[in-house]
Amino acid sequence: MSTLPLEVVEMFGQTLVKVVPITIVLALVFSVLSYFWACNPGAPWWRKREIVTDVCYWFFVVFNIHDADELIAFYDNGHGPLSELPLWVQAAIFLILSDFMLYWLHRMYHGGGFWKYHAIHHSSEDLDWISAARFHPVNLFLGTVAVDVILLMAGISPNIMLWVGPFTTFHSAFVHANLNWTLGPFKYVLATPVFHRWHHTSQEEGGNTNFAGTFPVWDILFGTFRMPENRLPDNYGVHDQTIPSEIGGQLAYPFRR
Ligand SMILES: [Zn+2]
Ligand SMILES: [Zn+2]
Repeated sequence: MSTLPLEVVEMFGQTLVKVVPITIVLALVFSVLSYFWACNPGAPWWRKREIVTDVCYWFFVVFNIHDADELIAFYDNGHGPLSELPLWVQAAIFLILSDFMLYWLHRMYHGGGFWKYHAIHHSSEDLDWISAARFHPVNLFLGTVAVDVILLMAGISPNIMLWVGPFTTFHSAFVHANLNWTLGPFKYVLATPVFHRWHHTSQEEGGNTNFAGTFPVWDILFGTFRMPENRLPDNYGVHDQTIPSEIGGQLAYPFRR
């Protein structure tokens, strides 16, 4: 008798065991923080209009992150000169180089033919921590996945993912959270909620800025940094296009027309 159905159920169970606790922690942390320091007043994140859509994305994307075990086994312990550096140095190199590549990929997605894939990420009108996972798969593959694979192929040890993975999951939820935090002078060092929420505003409000995922230094260097003093961003989403609100329609969206 085939054990496949049982294996599928077991894998599904293992995913839930991994993803649910992280999700609960993030939900608690950002509910409390945005109760005190909301960037935009209004209903809490769980009353977002498209909450079901975002919960679906969340479980798909976080599931894939935790599928990294296979990737780690495939790339073994890294290779070549990079893999001989201390792990923390490799993690720093990974964070800086991947962020640099993602900055330019992000700018590519904002121009011309690639926008239709990235528009899905920008379709959240109620922007909150759980919006962090709303990405079209094409955007993910020709984005974080491609960049990870390039750096692993260059020899970086996949073991750094043990630190980098949780950091990027938390940090990307953080920059989307409904928080009025700029981190004062550190706004030039690390991407903050206000920094990234400006990126989600419309073109007219200056939305074509703040492309960096983690380090705003790329935006400062290449002239796309924008954080107006004494003002907070509001009004998010893509208003000039009709993007479906449910996940199936969103996945099909770039392929229509
Ligand atoms: Zn964008
Ligand atoms: Zn975003």
